[in-house]
Amino acid sequence: MDKEKKESVSFTKGLLQSEELYQYILETSVYPREPEPLKELRDITATHPRSIMATAPDAGQLIAMLLKLTNAKRTIEVGVFTGYSLLLTALTIPEDGKIVAVDLNRDAYDIGLPVIRRAGVENKIDFIESEALPVLDQLLEDPENENGFDFAFIDADKINYWNYHERLMKLVKVGGIVVYDNTLWGGTVAMPEECTPEKMREGRQRTLDLNKLLAADPRVQISLAPLGDGITICRRIH
Ligand code: SAH
Ligand code: CA
Repeated sequence: MDKEKKESVSFTKGLLQSEELYQYILETSVYPREPEPLKELRDITATHPRSIMATAPDAGQLIAMLLKLTNAKRTIEVGVFTGYSLLLTALTIPEDGKIVAVDLNRDAYDIGLPVIRRAGVENKIDFIESEALPVLDQLLEDPENENGFDFAFIDADKINYWNYHERLMKLVKVGGIVVYDNTLWGGTVAMPEECTPEKMREGRQRTLDLNKLLAADPRVQISLAPLGDGITICRRIH
């Protein structure tokens, strides 16, 4: 088995009908286009006990597409871990682009940082070790930041997603995009509660609530794409 095959055994990242089909997508369309530093970061991350948390490379590819389509320059990243989605963003935005990246713990980020440095994109990243909510509130204290961001990727602390959303609807400009990760919560959103593993129940309920709220929110156009663990793409329209 080659290395890439072994790494993607985490089919838990995919919600497709068969593992073969997911492999097919990765091997045909994703890995051949994945930038070298991202591959390297994926390799390093695979040895981390919580490697499952890293953004799925196929979801990453769509995120890069959205960043390009919107010419995103200033972005927000909530939930960095070893930095797969962060590095992906840093590699995709222009040279003078900037990312505000927040994680309450920088240990995993420190593992990914050498790769980010070697890729020459550390200058685009403003990493803040903190709970995300106060950072978003702090950003809002400066009126310059209102409608000041083009894009946000939210991948931490599901309990607060709606709180993040309220802030992001001020920080991200009209026409900008917010992507929420894990909006299918391992597929449990479509399972009865009693079939959901105990440790996933709260997240499941939060995700059900969030998905309903987003669907009813006239400020955004939405698309829930079943990549990775489900990503909901929200385009601010008001
Ligand atoms: N986007 C990352 C994965 C993020 S995993 C990638 O592509 O690899 C979720 C991360 O959110 C973890 O690193 C965790 O430390 C962080 N986190 C959890 N709760 C948080 C909070 N309240 N504020 C900021 N970060 C948080
Ligand atoms: Ca995630």
